[in-house]
Amino acid sequence: MQQHDATSTPPSSAQFSEAALRIESNRLWPPERPLEKPARTGLFANVIRQFDRAADLLNLDRSVRKILSHTMNELTIHFPVRMDDGRIEMFTGYRVQHNNALGPFKGGLRFHPSVDLDEVRALAAWMTWKTAVARIPFGGAKGGIQMDPSRYSHSELERITRRFTFALGDNIGPEYDIPAPDVNTNAQIMAWILDTYLSFKPPQERQRCTHVVTGKPIESGGSLGREKATGQGVVFLIEHWARDNRLDLVNCTFTVQGFGNVGSWAARLLARHGAKLRAVQDVTGSIANPDGIDAEDLAAYVRRRGGVSGYTRARPIDADQFFATPADIFIPAAMESQITLETAPLLQVRLVAEGANGPTDADGDAILEQRGIQVLPDILCNAGGVVVSYFEWLQNKRSEFWELDEVDAKLRRKMSTAYEQVRSTVQRYRIDWRTAAYVVALTQLELVYKERGIFP
Ligand code: GLU
Repeated sequence: MQQHDATSTPPSSAQFSEAALRIESNRLWPPERPLEKPARTGLFANVIRQFDRAADLLNLDRSVRKILSHTMNELTIHFPVRMDDGRIEMFTGYRVQHNNALGPFKGGLRFHPSVDLDEVRALAAWMTWKTAVARIPFGGAKGGIQMDPSRYSHSELERITRRFTFALGDNIGPEYDIPAPDVNTNAQIMAWILDTYLSFKPPQERQRCTHVVTGKPIESGGSLGREKATGQGVVFLIEHWARDNRLDLVNCTFTVQGFGNVGSWAARLLARHGAKLRAVQDVTGSIANPDGIDAEDLAAYVRRRGGVSGYTRARPIDADQFFATPADIFIPAAMESQITLETAPLLQVRLVAEGANGPTDADGDAILEQRGIQVLPDILCNAGGVVVSYFEWLQNKRSEFWELDEVDAKLRRKMSTAYEQVRSTVQRYRIDWRTAAYVVALTQLELVYKERGIFP
């Protein structure tokens, strides 16, 4: 997909074969439709609201503002896959590339029923801000397939992943757009993407393309420390915040929403400081234990059983009780829009450390601010994953293999620098942490646009 903007997305790609779609989506189609105004509702609208707040404060250049409030490229692909019983099922997948001013497009792929164009647009834009805040040379993208992966067998998942990768074709690439794991995707899925992508390259080129995807299994070119990286980054930031706010992590308490990769790693790593996990919620239910939940034991249970429900070393509670559980820190590490008009008033914590992307909506943000609950925002707090993806990408390019302590030390440094930069922006402008993180990102992007200008 060469450069084209939001206006070029075909209305329904179902009419096109995959090959035709790849060609069509590169054309300006329809040619003269005016640039859409970003929608007022939905997740992308929430991103624009967050963006506007920082852009107003910075008095961001008007042209840069216009560019960044739109995505660059949007690809919708409908593709058929043969199921184990011989039936053909149609799937819809997306890849949205928001911006590549700072480097190749970068961002995960998620497999989830809620995946749609609006969600993927928002997630792609958050990646642009995140990579800018973390100061890694990447832009922002995101993609996924609208599906519930738990309904499919291992071999069906493999065929779905491979067929989607084939359909993406050269819209991804090691120096162009680099996918990674996200909700319900993992190292195995990245290995299938890698293998499919390489199968369509001449044999001579394959060895220099392994960085087309990050979050791979170690043996297939992955990096040590990548699996825990997002959770590790969250904990590094909590360590900083705790020092600044005189909170002793040894005796502190926390709650976690989502016990997948990010939530379970954040919980396990924070527990190693002596912090007590009081309550956990995931799609299967909510559980609590005032004496503490063993995060390692719960992670093993969730791996076996697929969710926290039925875990006998804690008692089941309802969703409201989960949100109202008193603790020092709440780590949302699941889906978007969880801290809202309804749930934000229930929270009894000092800090929300956003492991998920977009867990707090605009109402939620306003209520947290009013109640004096601090937020370490997603684009800062969960950047650890993409930072170690960057390390993996570098290792592949240089044919290197870094030790875990080297990866961890470099991640710690990146997260500390980002934290300190956002903190000094908070102090300088007397603003909330989310707006400050946007200010850091937008300042960087504006500079690059000013230096390079806009073609022609
Ligand atoms: N999906 C992760 C995120 O939202 C990681 C993206 C990446 O490593 O490219 O930040």
